[in-house]
Amino acid sequence: MSTKRNQDEDTKSVKKPASHWAMGLLSSMKDPELFIKEDDTVVIIKDKYPKAKYHFLVLPKENISSLVKVTKEHLQLLKHMDKLGQETAESYPNSVFKLGYHAQPSMSRLHLHVISDDFSSACLKTKKHWNTFTTDFFLSSSKVISEVEMQGKVTPVTNDKVKKLMDTPLKCHKCSFLAKNMPTLKTHILVHLKKLI
Ligand code: AMP
Ligand code: ZN
Repeated sequence: MSTKRNQDEDTKSVKKPASHWAMGLLSSMKDPELFIKEDDTVVIIKDKYPKAKYHFLVLPKENISSLVKVTKEHLQLLKHMDKLGQETAESYPNSVFKLGYHAQPSMSRLHLHVISDDFSSACLKTKKHWNTFTTDFFLSSSKVISEVEMQGKVTPVTNDKVKKLMDTPLKCHKCSFLAKNMPTLKTHILVHLKKLI
């Protein structure tokens, strides 16, 4: 059966009952087409619907459903995920990467996004896609690590704040350009790609 959901992703929250699509990362962790690297504690895969030229996910082998379940016990794991994410990014020295977590993920199993900041991808289509990577909805890996270090958990982002972040006007992540729609924004960001700024 082919549904729109199967072809794309990410409109729901893991707080809702885990449906089949929300568990997709678990099978992708074993998919040789997506596999990048693993060690005793983590697996790195390619994001199946990359939102940039390079987009990887670092996932723990331990069954941690999301950031909400993260405690001080996971600090070393978070640091290890960050380190492997940084190493993966360093394999692409011509790109600048962002490492972080979505405040309200759509997919189950904790995953660290390692994404190049060109956002050059046909899979990046919607305002929601844009705002999940370019607003405070994207919690940087270093911020998450320091929150867990200092308070033993990650402060949840409220639904109200999520709504506001998703409603943020379309703004270029590299300059003050405000776009009236996604096609305009996607054309605009090519300027930064060409100039590499
Ligand atoms: P999040 O909003 O943090 O849960 O993001 C989930 C990420 O997983 C998105 O970047 C999707 O493109 C990606 N994704 C969705 N389904 C799959 C899948 N089956 N295998 C690999 N990546 C996926
Ligand atoms: Zn710009």
